Parts: sequence; C-alpha cells; structure tokens
Amino acid sequence: MSSPIWHPFTQHALTPDFPLIETGEGAWLTDKDGKRILDAISSWWVITHGHRHPKIMAAVEAQGKKLDQVIFASFTHQPAEDVARGLVEMTGLPRVFFSDSGSTAVEVGLKMALGYWQAQPKPRHRIIALEHAYHGDTIGTMAVGTRGLFNAPYEPLLYNVDRLPFPNSSATETLAALERLAPDAAALIVEPLLLGAGGMLTYAPEILAAMKKICARHGVLLIADEVLTGFGRTGTLFACEQAGVTPDILCLAKGLTGGALPLAATLASEAIFQAHYSPDRARTFFHSSSFTANPIACAAAAANLELWNSEPVLDRIQALAAAQQQRLDSFQSDARFSGLRRIGTVTALDLKVSDPGYLSGIGPNLARFFLEKGVLLRPLGNTIYVMPPYCVTAAELDLVYDAIGEAAKKFV
Ligand SMILES: *Cc1c(COP(=O)(O)O)cnc(C)c1O
Repeated sequence: MSSPIWHPFTQHALTPDFPLIETGEGAWLTDKDGKRILDAISSWWVITHGHRHPKIMAAVEAQGKKLDQVIFASFTHQPAEDVARGLVEMTGLPRVFFSDSGSTAVEVGLKMALGYWQAQPKPRHRIIALEHAYHGDTIGTMAVGTRGLFNAPYEPLLYNVDRLPFPNSSATETLAALERLAPDAAALIVEPLLLGAGGMLTYAPEILAAMKKICARHGVLLIADEVLTGFGRTGTLFACEQAGVTPDILCLAKGLTGGALPLAATLASEAIFQAHYSPDRARTFFHSSSFTANPIACAAAAANLELWNSEPVLDRIQALAAAQQQRLDSFQSDARFSGLRRIGTVTALDLKVSDPGYLSGIGPNLARFFLEKGVLLRPLGNTIYVMPPYCVTAAELDLVYDAIGEAAKKFV
C-alpha cells in the first residue's frame, strides 16, 4: 500500500497509483515528474476561468492577511456581504444562505422548501425530481437523485420522491406527470437544461419554462440545482435564463469561486425567507456548517463575481461554444459515435459499444488512454464529454478531440 488515501468514485482494486499533481495554470495541470495534462473536464466541472486565475489568487492572498475564519451565526464579514449582494444582483433572488458544497447547497434548498411548507396552513412534504437526476452524494441528495448503481446500498434509507420521466424526444409525458403530481407536491427539483452526472443529457429551455408554469399554478416551489450549470457552463450566466425562469430556490457551488475553493450558496425567494421569519425561535432555519461563508472562500467568490462584471466572460464562452461545436461536427459522420450534443461550453458523445452505461468496460480504458495522451477526460462509461475551462485555446481543443478520435479507432 503506497498511500492511505481512499479516493472518491474510485475502485481501488482496479486503479493503479494516481499521478501526483504539483501545479496548475490556465487549462493545464503538471505532475511531479513534469508531465503536463490538459484539464478538459475543469477538474470535475469546477474550474471556470482557468487554474489559478491571478485576480482570484490575489484576493485569496489578501484575505489571508486579514481574517481566516469566523463563526457566521454571530457575525458577518465584508467578503460574504459582497458575494451575497453580487448574487442577488445576478439572480434577482433576495436571500442568500451559504454552505460549502453542491450537496449541502441542495440539502439547504430542500430544507428551505420543506420549512416553507411547514409554515403553511396545509403543509406539503412530497418532492418531485427528474429521472437520471444527480443532486449530490449525501443521504438527502441521493434520495432526490435517480436510483441505481450510485446509491443501491443506501436505498432502504432514502425517502420516497415522485419521479418525472426524462423528456427525451418529447416532453408530453414529463409535463403530464408533473401536472398529475403537482397538487400534492412541496417542490420540484431540477438540473436546468443539463443533467451532468446522469450522462450529460440535455433538454430544451421551453420544457423548463413549461415545468415552471405548472409549478406556479399549483404553488409548487421550483428548486433549480445550478451547481454545475451556473457561471456560464450552458452559454448563459445561469441556465434558467434561457427559459426566462426565476426559480424559488437556486443552488450554486462549483463555479462560485471560479473553482478555486469550496463554497456554495442557496438563494431563496422572499416568501421562503418570510416563512421562517418570526418572533418564535422554533421557526428558525436550523442549518449550519462549521465553515459557513468562510472568509477566504468568500473572497475568492467575490473576485469571481468581479471578473464576471468586469471582463467579457460571456464573449469568451460564446467563442468556446463555437469552437466546441466545430470540433464535435468533425465526428458527425463517424459511425463509431452517436448522440453528439452540445450545450454552451459542454459537448458530449456516446461511443457505440455492446455494454453502454456507466459501468461500460470501455470507460476505464478510455480514461487511461487519454491520460497517456496528456488529456484529462473522465468518461461517464461510454459517454465522453468535454467541459474545459473558458481559457482553453483552439489548439488545445484540437489535442482533446484528436485524442478522442484516436481512442475511437483504438477501442471501437
Ligand atoms: C456536482 C453536483 C452536485 C454536488 O456537488 P458537490 O460539491 O460535489 O457536493 C450537485 N448537483 C449537481 C447538478 C452537480 O453536478
């Protein structure tokens, strides 16, 4: 045994030692032997502008000279105030609750929705979620996630939720199911437009808009899990914008600090805040974590919001989206691929194999092959996706897609 570390989503019985990464810059990682690796999945979907963006690093350094951590139940601090105000301006939602990860942002959102309903004359408890959904790996978020491989051992402890069929070619069934379930439901939770861990599946903004309409008609709260889609991934700052939808609750994490430090935020409507606002201390929103709104993480997030406001990030994203589409198109007539798709800066395609799915035998072989080529890609089974930081260049994208082409030749 060379390392005592138990890595996430890793079958150690099948995995050799991992490269030890020493540095990161822009779209590149470098290991201890000096091998350079192109980070084509933004280090698990978190790095937005690129590794070690100078303005974010400067903010972290400056904050480190002032305040490292302070209890957030009794105090506030300027970086948190700046991030909260910035997020309110960006989203139109008036209340901001901090936590530390995507999973906790979703847990907080679910608890806010249930707390809201507890304060109503006729409380509701049921949550509706989408087939193929992924909302995190804590018990509460696994319950709203799709059931199967990732959570089978815990299934007996997961609470029941109502499930909508994923809108594949048509949304008719999805919307009809929502219409049927809505009268009893407290909340609908969705990943807007892009289901990430479920296989990089996309659906149209019109469907999200239609779901919001049904929810509004029945008083069902809409929880938008933009942990992945937030901060530009789908081509707009938030995916909900493309549907013209303001959710009741919005969960943010991955790109909130530009990916540099762990921080999450759950934004809520005034009605949800007011449902907890009372001289009765029993109606307090009882949620916290030790590091809620850590000042250094908030300083990174404030610098990230400042970048969004001062630099043409959306233009960069549009250029990246076009470049991504062009590379993807080169596989259009390649019979080894199917399901070519792109939303914003993210592309995905499926390799035609006899055993499709997350456990497809080809997955680990692909990942190893890509790493040998100096490209970090981590296929979801036979689904290869490319989700680079926004600083990636056209020449760097060529490296990624050349490697994908070679992999198809080698393995299919
Ligand atoms: C990654 C992800 C989460 C969980 O975030 P963590 O920071 O890993 O806990 C939740 N929802 C979505 C849509 C995600 O992609």
